[in-house]
This record gives sequence, structure tokens and C-alpha cells, in this order.
Amino acid sequence: MQVFKFGGASVKDAKSLKNMASIISGYDDKLVVVVSAMGKMTNAFEDLVKAYFKGDALKWDKFNLIKNFHNQIIDGLFESNDEIYPVIDALFFKIEDRLSRMPSLNFDFEYDQLVSYGEILSTTIISYYLNKEEISNKWIDIRFLLRTDDNWREANVDWELSGKLIPETLNFKDERLYITQGFIGATTSDLTTTLGREGSDYTAAILGHVLEAEQVVVWKDVPGILNADPQYFEHPRKIASMTYREAVELTFFGAKVIHPKTIKPLENSGIPLHVRSFLKPDAKGTIIGSDESEKPGKQIPVYIMKTRQVLITISQPDFSFMNEESMAWIFAAFSELRMKINMIQQSALNLSISTDIPEHGVLQLVERLAESFEVRYNDGLELITIRHYTPEAIEAEIDHRNVYLEQKTRNTARFLVLKKR
Ligand code: ASP
Ligand code: MG
Repeated sequence: MQVFKFGGASVKDAKSLKNMASIISGYDDKLVVVVSAMGKMTNAFEDLVKAYFKGDALKWDKFNLIKNFHNQIIDGLFESNDEIYPVIDALFFKIEDRLSRMPSLNFDFEYDQLVSYGEILSTTIISYYLNKEEISNKWIDIRFLLRTDDNWREANVDWELSGKLIPETLNFKDERLYITQGFIGATTSDLTTTLGREGSDYTAAILGHVLEAEQVVVWKDVPGILNADPQYFEHPRKIASMTYREAVELTFFGAKVIHPKTIKPLENSGIPLHVRSFLKPDAKGTIIGSDESEKPGKQIPVYIMKTRQVLITISQPDFSFMNEESMAWIFAAFSELRMKINMIQQSALNLSISTDIPEHGVLQLVERLAESFEVRYNDGLELITIRHYTPEAIEAEIDHRNVYLEQKTRNTARFLVLKKR
């Protein structure tokens, strides 16, 4: 039994859905297919929920954009009298109904209730399409199986309950193929939650772990895991295999190839993760697994870029030391504001922290820290991590740049640099 995950780029239009169907039809084994929202629809839903929450009448334009996008895909796949039309209309009616009512006061809650429709729509369309193509499958609403707490937008999985519910429903008794949603879950009171952006990989890993899959395959628009993001670095190369540990390090440092939470459930049950190209389905991708035979030192440098960084420098106002008690207070402030610390450097009087700039800016954090400390900050920075660095790699990528902070361990060099203009 395997778990496949298809991301937004692999289901962005009618043509890519046909490609996906051809990949799925190539497997006659038991299969669970986890799918994200189509194309950039999660971003579109985010825009919609912002407008809705603000009470902005533009919400209806944003709603229509989403509706037209899906209808265009359906028109490319089905006859006009197909039974899918009323089903999709009913989903849009539910969204419309929600948008017509006043939002609650909790943005993150409203976000989960609306943005989750991206996955409900995509899986509904895909399931109908595969059945029409005689790839018989069953559509599953994962919210009945994947139960979480109510930490909206970043919900935590209830492993015990989900571990019981998932195999009960995905039991392969009468079906070989299930189609279900990534990224979403529900509380025990049946309120929809989401697992954090790009969380569909994580869903695939959860299902792989609970169902003891042979492997989890993530189908992407790249040939596998590359040693550098082509958006920022030249000459990326594919890495044929890597250990779970290496994969965790890469995602932690900001490599966007898989969701950071994906590895743990797979590592815990020794299930390999295969990253493959849906554009070249016959090519070997990257296999992440427990093979520790890769010797350190043999690995090629891996370059990871984290954009939108701000360096916050925090000092005691009265020339006293930056001690553990102050640091505990500072870290608690970051944690409460759900801000991630990417790099830390400490001196007698200062603590310097690089963090992601949140959507709403850094002022909230700065004001909070300023209650007890002097605070300065520099934005417009990027954090470059080079795993398995060499002097040549550093020279090529860093030496000409304006470096604000730098740290090296045996395997990893990290540089906080000014963004190129
Ligand atoms: N559709 C969600 C997102 O774009 C989840 C995912 O794609 O993994 O963040
Ligand atoms: Mg997506």
C-alpha cells in the first residue's frame, strides 16, 4: 500500500489533471491519494478570507475568481450535463452562504473554515474525474478521520484518535483507491482546522505512518530534491538519496521542498519518502530514507535561501548583562507571538535574533520587547544556509555580500546577508 501526494502545481488545470490520472492509472496496488488545492487557490482563498473578515465588498470579486477558476477546469473535463455540476454548485453555495453572514471575531478560525474549501473542491473534482475515466475510487472527507486540536491554522494532530479512525475508514475492504484532502482536519466538535501552509505533505506522512505504507510519494514539478532552489542559485543538481536526518535539517533551514513536519512520522516507522516529478513520471527522483551510508564529507554543498528576514538586536537598557532570565523572557515573547527564531547570536549586552517578517510586520514584536529592553532592527535581509559547505561554495555565494551575522558548525555555515537590490 502506498500514499501519493499531489500538490497544487500538479492539479492546476484540466491538462495536469489528465496527467495525474495517467500516473495513478499506472498503479494497480492499494493507494491513498492526498491532494492539495488546485494551482494557487489557497492564496486566492487567503485573499478572500481577508476581504470577508474586513467586511470588504470585494469579497464577491474574489469569490467569483475562485468559482470561475474551478468551473473552467470542470468544463475542460466533463460534459455539460455531468452529475458533477450540481455537486460543485452546492459547495459554492455553502461558501456563498458563509460569506453572506458576519464573520466571528476570530480571524484564524474563519480562515480554516473558508480556506479548507480549496482541498474539498479539488478532491471532489478529481474523484469524479477519475471515476469517469474508469479509475474507480472513493472520495474521503479526511475531516472525519484526521482529528486535531483547535489551534487554528496550525492545528496539532490528535494521534491517538486519528490513529484509530484512519485505518477504520481507509480499510481497503471494498476499495483499492481513496482520494482525500491534504492540509485539513477537524476538531472533535467537527470544526474544520488546517495544518499550516503547504501541510499536504504532512497529511501524506500522517496517513503513511498510521497505515504502515510501503512508501509515500510526493509528486512535484521538480525532478526531486535539488541542492539549490533554482529561483536563487545557479546550476542546481538533483540529490539521488538522503537520510531522514539530512532532510529534517534542510527543511529546518528553510528548504521548501517538503513541509518540515513531514519527516518525523515517516522516520518513526521507517517509511521511505520518494520525491518525484509528475512531469517525468518515469524518472527516479530523490529517496529519503534511513540509509546512513552516505559519509559526511562526500555530500555536495546544499544551498538554502530564507528570504524576508529581520535582525532584531535586543539590549538591556541599563548596561546590565544579557542573562538567562532576560533571554527566557525574550523567547517567551517570540513564542507567544508565534514567531520563529532562525538564528541567534549573543554578546555580553546584546541578543541578536533573526526571524521571519510576519505578514503584519514586526512592530507588534518590537513593541512587546521594548517593554523591557532597548530594541533595534534591520530588515531587508536574507538568510543563506550552506550545508556541507566548502571554501569555494562560500566564496561564490557569500564573499561579495554584506554579511550581518555568520555562524559555522562542522556541517553547516549560515549567513544573514543584505538582500541584493
Ligand atoms: N493547499 C495548501 C497550501 O497551498 C496545502 C498544500 O498545498 O500543501 O498551503
Ligand atoms: Mg498548495
